[in-house]
Amino acid sequence: MKPKFIFVTGGVISSLGKGLAASALGALLEARNLTIGIQKLDPYLNVDPGTMSPFQHGEVFVTDDGAETDLDLGHYERFTNAVLSKKSNYTTGKIYDAVLAKERRGDYLGGTVQVIPHITDEIKACIRGGTGNVDVALVEIGGTVGDIESQPFLEAIRQFRYDIGPENVLYIHLTLVPYIKTAGELKTKPTQHSVKELRSIGIQPDIILCRSDRPLPLEIKKKISLFCNIPPEAVFTAQDVDSIYEVPLSLHREGLDDKVVELLNIWTGAPRLDTWQQIVRKIKDPESEVTIGIVGKYTALTESYKSLNEALVHGGIANNTRVKLEYIDSEQLEKMDEEQLAAHLAGIDGILVPGGFGNRGIEGKIKAIAYARSQRVPLFGICLGMQLMVVEFARHCAGLERANSAEFDPETPYPVIYLMKEWTSHDGTRTITQDENTPKGGTMRLGAHPCRLQPDSFAYRAYGTGEISERHRHRYEFNNQFRDRLTASGLQVTGTHADRQLVEIVEIKDHPWYLGCQFHPEFTSKPMKPHPLFVEFIKASLAHGRRDG
Ligand code: GLN
Repeated sequence: MKPKFIFVTGGVISSLGKGLAASALGALLEARNLTIGIQKLDPYLNVDPGTMSPFQHGEVFVTDDGAETDLDLGHYERFTNAVLSKKSNYTTGKIYDAVLAKERRGDYLGGTVQVIPHITDEIKACIRGGTGNVDVALVEIGGTVGDIESQPFLEAIRQFRYDIGPENVLYIHLTLVPYIKTAGELKTKPTQHSVKELRSIGIQPDIILCRSDRPLPLEIKKKISLFCNIPPEAVFTAQDVDSIYEVPLSLHREGLDDKVVELLNIWTGAPRLDTWQQIVRKIKDPESEVTIGIVGKYTALTESYKSLNEALVHGGIANNTRVKLEYIDSEQLEKMDEEQLAAHLAGIDGILVPGGFGNRGIEGKIKAIAYARSQRVPLFGICLGMQLMVVEFARHCAGLERANSAEFDPETPYPVIYLMKEWTSHDGTRTITQDENTPKGGTMRLGAHPCRLQPDSFAYRAYGTGEISERHRHRYEFNNQFRDRLTASGLQVTGTHADRQLVEIVEIKDHPWYLGCQFHPEFTSKPMKPHPLFVEFIKASLAHGRRDG
């Protein structure tokens, strides 16, 4: 019977790291030579997180096939080799959308359409079709047990065990075991309550993973065992660690993967964890340190830049260096004169301007870009960052005063970045068009697109090849009407869409490292396979940091 399913639920509070736990378990199973698939079910009503604020929901992660998904999918791809797609993330909104479309089509003609069985059947079909023919499929249920929204998902996974047989299904429940200082004790009550909640809807967890700041002593495990109807050997600590890449090793030390294969009755040898050990060693004991300034709007919320932050860490691993991130609020830069700006950015070895939407802080980002260009500080612009590099160059190097992106100034005389009117779908099968009135959900240029690189460029040197494929998520693009004017002034177009004329990468010469890309390279970086642009950017920033001693 293939695959076997592991359902991961969470209790007590959100943000316990269910996504990381699932990813780390996926990594451990792969280290045992099993093939895995991984999927997330989210209980909110948005059809996808593409229309949600990153303030609320964190980063929107984009897959190769152009799905806008939950940021946990980023962890899944960074930790495992699972191939993710539109089938890897379902929300309540998407499930209802499908069921209502069927109802209108008449598929249920004569019947009353209900949560059970119609919604739960749809959920189960999505689970079955979600991960392909792998040995083990991990399915994470978003939200916290007890939420009204998660009930249909929990009911569906309860039924699932009977559909495919108990020997093929495992339920893992992640909870919090807090240490209460005043009592000097670890408290199991929240875990007891959350498991009670789960059992009241018919799900008995097979494994309880307890997030805690310290290892759980045996008597605590026994207590949880007693109250939650589970053997003490199936209670594990998920201890806080310094780096997320330690999680697989830490869970392995606890014996989690041994227990999982035992319960699923799969025979494997011991896992090979040497590459994970190497990664952790490099993160903990680097040779040097480099400071990268990220100039952005959501600066207080690192969740909005999850993949980006990780990709920078990966670039550090490749260069044997610790990457210190400094978040620079672009709105603050707007009020500064040149001297203040230089003082503010003085300790920064490399500047990164990430993607973003909306016009808050735009002029501050442009100031940071002007500074990096003129002071020869390594500069990496991603998506919006690249677009603003083009605006800055147009204004200050090509004599196009008041140049802007039409997104921020529809009246600009020089819309060097403008609304993209026509492009090809990620798989090249469809031409897509849009105008100012196109609805906002799921209508951006999304997913992986091929790009051709110019030899003798920062990009070509980084990738070591002329043909690449990278993921996109944007509505605006470089306006080719200004291409000649800008290139005549020294801007270089070093990457273009393989068969359309879309500009994907810009650079300038006579600079230690200055590169802007329309795509999001951070989505495909992994600790074991750091993305070449991040490797080169960190390398250049390190060299810049060492320039005067
Ligand atoms: N707001 C810009 C656009 O839609 C940039 C998007 C991004 O950075 N992801 O084109």
